[in-house]
Amino acid sequence: MRFLADAMVGRLAKWLRALGYDTLYHRDGDDAALLATAAAEGRVLLTRDTRLPRGDLPAGSLLIRSDRVEDQIREVLRAFDLRPTSPGTRCLRCNTLLAPVSREGVAGRVPDFVLTRYTAFRTCPLCRRIYWPGTHRRRMGEVLARLCG
Ligand SMILES: [Zn+2]
Repeated sequence: MRFLADAMVGRLAKWLRALGYDTLYHRDGDDAALLATAAAEGRVLLTRDTRLPRGDLPAGSLLIRSDRVEDQIREVLRAFDLRPTSPGTRCLRCNTLLAPVSREGVAGRVPDFVLTRYTAFRTCPLCRRIYWPGTHRRRMGEVLARLCG
């Protein structure tokens, strides 16, 4: 399942990426472009924009009701009966699938304490950001546990 988040649910987009879902984030407010992208790429549109005429929303779009991101994630998982199976596989910044990289491969590109502490790293082939099982992953893990519990 692929998503397209509009400008009003940017944080939700990042979390869906963290959970492993292919999620584009449409930063500008051009409704026509938004709807065109959703249709062209077969993406489920996620929006909080109640001004969008219902009839204009592509089939299967989801109008997000909550303003709390954790509840928003819950809304999406529930609406499509999803159980996240591959968290930590996608770049939070640009949505690209991450690739494993060796400790040697990230030397000099992450802080020394990170290099000595972890052995498993992933990198984004597009924006070059490096990921490791650090703090933000643990916090996300806690939220994920709540979401599934
Ligand atoms: Zn990236």
